[in-house]
Amino acid sequence: MARTTLEHITKVFTDDNANDIVAVDDVSIEIEDGEFLVLVGPSGCGKSTTLRMVAGLETITDGRIRLDDRVINDLPAQDRDIAMVFQSYALYPHMTVRGNMAFGLEESTDLPDEEIDALVTETAEMLGIEGMLDRTPDELSGGQQQRVALGRAIVRDPDVFLMDEPLSNLDAKLRSQMRMELQRLQEGLDTTTIYVTHDQTEAMTMGDRIAVLNDGKLQQVGTPLECYHRPANLFVAGFIGEPSMNMITGTIDGDAFVSDEFTYPISADLAAELEGVFDVTLGIRPEDLELSTEEPEDSRALSMIVDVVEPMGDENVVYLRFDSGDVGIDDDQLVLIATIDGISDIAGIDRVSVRIPEEALHVFSTETGNAIRNRRLEGDVERVV
Ligand code: ATP
Repeated sequence: MARTTLEHITKVFTDDNANDIVAVDDVSIEIEDGEFLVLVGPSGCGKSTTLRMVAGLETITDGRIRLDDRVINDLPAQDRDIAMVFQSYALYPHMTVRGNMAFGLEESTDLPDEEIDALVTETAEMLGIEGMLDRTPDELSGGQQQRVALGRAIVRDPDVFLMDEPLSNLDAKLRSQMRMELQRLQEGLDTTTIYVTHDQTEAMTMGDRIAVLNDGKLQQVGTPLECYHRPANLFVAGFIGEPSMNMITGTIDGDAFVSDEFTYPISADLAAELEGVFDVTLGIRPEDLELSTEEPEDSRALSMIVDVVEPMGDENVVYLRFDSGDVGIDDDQLVLIATIDGISDIAGIDRVSVRIPEEALHVFSTETGNAIRNRRLEGDVERVV
């Protein structure tokens, strides 16, 4: 087990035309001993490159990586006590499960065969694959192959696990089952783990903390609930949460927010907080919009058209738009997405009042993208974080 520290790490690739590609740009993260950290971000944001630098599979252009107090920048991959699990399980097809799981230990330790065999059997039992030790990978399902790949990493008892989208080849049901199993395993083993995914649900449900990357740059590191309730900027706000946070651009004009579609009065307190700020983007989570079939009574409520309702069972996802008088949907038209209780029957209703509660508002600077103010439910967040 080891604390893993990334200090200002940067990776620059040079392409065939001698252009520099900054894949990872000055990223610093301290991952505690035993912590499960999820690196999340869209395709191409630099997640795998970061992981590969920790593994020693990629050189580091700038910055330092430490395991505890030791700088490991120049340590060859095989001398780092790190085990990596890939998306493609990379099992040896001609070897049995037992052979696959034992291979790393046979190569890198002097342990006697009986001891290796005992470790392999114990790990296979932990993963529920003890009955498959004599099969070859082509005789296993995708989920079983994934367990063997995990087993191969676990049996080495490394200081750090690195996992690069290890569940993405599994179907949705198996993925959610393996998510739970992996978390349980990691808690039991208490091995520092860095887990890469582009899937924000995986990040939210698995990580002790998540590190959000975009375009090679670290956007925020925090617990899943911190990133959800207190996003540092527009990118994190839009990336974390499904459906995404609604964003409305406009300006602050004294005691009102003014957008192309509507004017929204703000309290004296919020106006004071936003003093000197002009171009802003309001953010509101779909679950914070309050829908009603009554006429809007409140000046913070808007009359909107119900465009589409997607019943998900536990909730309905409702797409709302303003009545522009035009037939058809124009791409630039503001659409708000609300989630409401699945039991509410809104079929056949074509117009609702949509109230935006001020205490649930996020406000971002449109120019920098940085959060100026996050929703005021901090008491709740303190309790659960
Ligand atoms: P994905 O989720 O699609 O795997 P990622 O977040 O893991 O994406 P990386 O694979 O780390 O992203 O790539 C980051 C950037 O670096 C991308 O722009 C990619 O094209 C570039 N890149 C990665 N490897 C190389 C390489 N060997 N040579 C040149 N550019 C590279």
